[in-house]
Amino acid sequence: MGTPAIFLDRDGTLIEDVGHVGDPAQVAFFPETFDALRRLGGQFLLFIVTNQSGIGRGYYTLEDMHRVNERLCAELAEHGVRFEKIYFAPEAPEEPSRGRKPSPQFLFDARDEFGLDLSQSYMIGDKLADLECGWNAGVRQSILVRTGYGAEVERTLTGKLRHVEVVDDLHSAAGRVLSGPET
Ligand SMILES: [Mg+2]
Repeated sequence: MGTPAIFLDRDGTLIEDVGHVGDPAQVAFFPETFDALRRLGGQFLLFIVTNQSGIGRGYYTLEDMHRVNERLCAELAEHGVRFEKIYFAPEAPEEPSRGRKPSPQFLFDARDEFGLDLSQSYMIGDKLADLECGWNAGVRQSILVRTGYGAEVERTLTGKLRHVEVVDDLHSAAGRVLSGPET
């Protein structure tokens, strides 16, 4: 057996999704992010898996994205939160991509590099592609947060056969993960 992990989308899940986040000054954490990640980080390895099509579309550069991630990680570190690795897909949506969500490839990469047990791991995000990424990788549960695009996505999921876990925000997602699945 391996180590359990939490895979988190970035924009709309940890920070405000202001369109395409290409400037560190745009990094605006949701108020619940720090505490939720601290709690999750006590029991799980944490990873970010992010689609950054703004690079492929030419809205900002790879270097801009790294500066945003550095700012993000610095602020998280001040709150005692550490991510093992940030996986990003820089391609535009129509371009071929090895790891762009809903591809599960980055979760497989993390499994192989960090010895993870995906069946005991979780994916948390605000878009359908996040949920699908987790399902495609065989995680224990994909959780939709209503922050970012989540509330909008939830409405489109009504009537879908597959059961989707939906929570208000990352605080509730952490509660759901740490209390185990409801019976
Ligand atoms: Mg998102």
